[in-house]
Amino acid sequence: MKAIQIHSTGGPEVLQLADLPIPQPGPSQVLIRIEATGVNFIEIYFRKGVYKTSLPMTPGSEAAGTVEELGPGVTGFAAGDAVASTSVIGSYAEYALVPAAQLVKVPDGLSLECAAAAMLQGMTAHYLAYSTFPLKKGDTALVHAGAGGVGLLLTQIATAQGARVITTVSTKAKAGLSREAGASDVILYENQDFEVEVKRLTEGKGVDVVYDSVGKTTFEKSLNCLRPRGMLALFGASSGPVPPFDPVQLNSKGSLYLTRPTLWHYIATRAELEWRSGDVLGWAAKGELKLRTEHTYPLADAAQAQIDLESRKTTGKILLVP
Ligand code: NDP
Repeated sequence: MKAIQIHSTGGPEVLQLADLPIPQPGPSQVLIRIEATGVNFIEIYFRKGVYKTSLPMTPGSEAAGTVEELGPGVTGFAAGDAVASTSVIGSYAEYALVPAAQLVKVPDGLSLECAAAAMLQGMTAHYLAYSTFPLKKGDTALVHAGAGGVGLLLTQIATAQGARVITTVSTKAKAGLSREAGASDVILYENQDFEVEVKRLTEGKGVDVVYDSVGKTTFEKSLNCLRPRGMLALFGASSGPVPPFDPVQLNSKGSLYLTRPTLWHYIATRAELEWRSGDVLGWAAKGELKLRTEHTYPLADAAQAQIDLESRKTTGKILLVP
């Protein structure tokens, strides 16, 4: 099978197309034939060596496809089932293994490409809005990178819960997309001081929660945008990691809460995985959650897909189609 392999950490050029044997499913594993792979920022962190892993490796954890073969002891799935997961073991490939406990069926009426586009960013938006800081009617949230993959979905989910969503984006074109997703106010954070703008938009009160995936360049001011006892959910580092931080600042800035969540801890049980994936894929199938796929690349162009994501040009999802 064709797959992307990394032999050393580095730039996009380390993503090499290789011919590898189709893996055999072990106990509790399912072999899937991949129809669409989701490209995510985490693969860039692994490629650069920011997150550690053993090499050589095939990147990618998100995909949708069909069941090819069941490993010993697997029940509940059959060959040909349309399935999706965010725990694929190397999804930049034509075939890959998935732990059966982390595989879900794709509902009728949703294409496999849409399922691959919705799973990881959609479930991330879901856990942020329903569990990390459960939004309720009347809450105000600040969402950074509001026209990004997670940003567009989080804005839609948060507004559906009755929250007011203020976003930040880098360009006017992105501002338009963010507004379409439901943002009440969009701040162009390259030209405007978002802390000043948020204070103005909230009449000095501050927001209840900041969902910050940008990290290094936004962290400090994100804390300053919160109301007393508000929460900063720092869930990414698109601009780079946040430097070491003295927790006493949480006290002086208003008894704030800071959390650094990750999807895996919010889908660790079958019940949580089924709840979040069921909601996200179900809303997408009914057209209640609008998906935006920026670009679909052949597997061989994985490097270009990562260059695009990293270069800040993209909005919505990037897919690889083997
Ligand atoms: P996005 O589509 O949001 O792309 C990243 C965006 O970040 C860019 O488009 C850009 O938007 C903004 N950005 C700001 N500064 C920079 C910079 N210096 N370099 C690059 N981008 C910058 O990506 P995703 O939706 O896939 O992921 C968003 C973030 O969420 C990532 O950091 C990812 O790691 C994280 N994440 C975390 C998860 C978790 O569970 N913790 C799960 C999923 C994703 P603009 O041009 O508008 O500034």
